[in-house]
Amino acid sequence: MANPLTEKEVNQLLQLLTDEQRKYLENYMKQSKKSKWLENLAKKKGYVLQKDLSIEDAWNTLNDWELEDVLDGGYGLRPYKCECGMPLRFCYIVRHRAENKMYRLGETCLENYTMLSSDLIQDITKGFHKIDLERDDILIKYAQEWTYPTDYEGLVLPEPFQKQVHIGLPLSKAQMKKIERLFKHDLIRIRKEKKFEKIIQQRRKSDYIQTPSQQAKPAARNESITYDRLIQNHLEQLKQIMKHENNISNPEMKATWKNVQQMVLLLKQEEQEKQKEQEEQEHFDYSKFLVQLFDLLYHLKLY
Ligand SMILES: [Zn+2]
Repeated sequence: MANPLTEKEVNQLLQLLTDEQRKYLENYMKQSKKSKWLENLAKKKGYVLQKDLSIEDAWNTLNDWELEDVLDGGYGLRPYKCECGMPLRFCYIVRHRAENKMYRLGETCLENYTMLSSDLIQDITKGFHKIDLERDDILIKYAQEWTYPTDYEGLVLPEPFQKQVHIGLPLSKAQMKKIERLFKHDLIRIRKEKKFEKIIQQRRKSDYIQTPSQQAKPAARNESITYDRLIQNHLEQLKQIMKHENNISNPEMKATWKNVQQMVLLLKQEEQEKQKEQEEQEHFDYSKFLVQLFDLLYHLKLY
């Protein structure tokens, strides 16, 4: 995967951020790189890092080369110096835990000093590149005026994410993936509710739009339904609402509930009468019945 942003573009986008946002992003990158380093080193040594293990404890267990910082002197500049004397743009500050010694190294000497294998170093730098891409993702979203996903509105995000959103920085794709994983069940519920709300709205809308043509084509107005089928389809839902009817809190919903019950009774009566007349019933508005039924279920959180 190629870097979607050139260095110049990154710098331009960074200029758009406030000091607080820029500092936050820099620190986020630094922490991500440090834990990427730790993760790779542990993997290489065959350690499984437990989730509840603190970073400090993990380091005490590993007792190996720890990354303290990666410095970037800036494009075209080499303000840092390697242990070997070579001027550097990128400088890795590493600490040997056992000896408690710090070294400032370039990429080449990193391998020689630490004796970490070159494929491990490659894995680490690949990981760093991914973190840079994550920064680019955040910067691009920021420039495109990202907005917080409405699905996430009721969620209590982990502390660092909250801070990030609070200061006005977008969440990266990787961070959102993590949120999706953390709140899997909440999000399924929230999305289901939203979908339902949409269906209800569309139903209302289509009822409204259909109104003028109703007189012209009365047969197409509603799905026709018999009392038996209605009971067969909705008895459980009606029972549930009945069970919770004391929880119906607002007057409009109380009226809706009364109306739904009346509709059912009327359908039964009409049918009894019409059986005599051998006519099909046309007065029962099934879609209206459904809208009201689901309004109630939704209101009582039974859906
Ligand atoms: Zn060197």
